[in-house]
Amino acid sequence: MNKTKEYNCKKCGVVIQEFTFEKNDGICMPCNNGTRKEIEERKNATVKCEISSIDTDPITIEIIAREFQPIINKAGNVGGKHHANYHEMEAQKALVKHCVVYGVDIELYDDHWGRTGYALIEEFEKGNAWIRNGEHKIYFKELIKEEWKEGNHFLAMQGGILYKDSSGNIIFKKLTWLS
Ligand SMILES: [Zn+2]
Repeated sequence: MNKTKEYNCKKCGVVIQEFTFEKNDGICMPCNNGTRKEIEERKNATVKCEISSIDTDPITIEIIAREFQPIINKAGNVGGKHHANYHEMEAQKALVKHCVVYGVDIELYDDHWGRTGYALIEEFEKGNAWIRNGEHKIYFKELIKEEWKEGNHFLAMQGGILYKDSSGNIIFKKLTWLS
């Protein structure tokens, strides 16, 4: 009696049918599906970061980690290599790298000079990131962006940008200049 050739899953070793072996490149169905799901989940790992706002609650901006990695890697820092912000930004890069390599979601804190937040706001305005509001995602295209200016003395003025939702509520207000 001829013993038929056995096909084993290359990953977990379980005996599988020749058809499955051929079809899935030597991987059993559960391993095949599980692996694929895990890889997809890892690819979608996100970074989120709370960004402070004037007169409103902070907003949380979220982005796919592997898309944010080249952005944070290029983001500049305040001061030179002996400045605290240089080390803060190096730490941010390492955290985002960890997120990408291990496929885990992470929460970052904005650095003390707001460079991380600034980079995220830029990506938000390009449509590459979104505001995380509980289960909801809010995209830049759904908002109205305006410039604001306060004060009437030329030495005591300040201004920046703000975002309004479709009902006209201010949801984010950022200072970008002081006179
Ligand atoms: Zn298997």
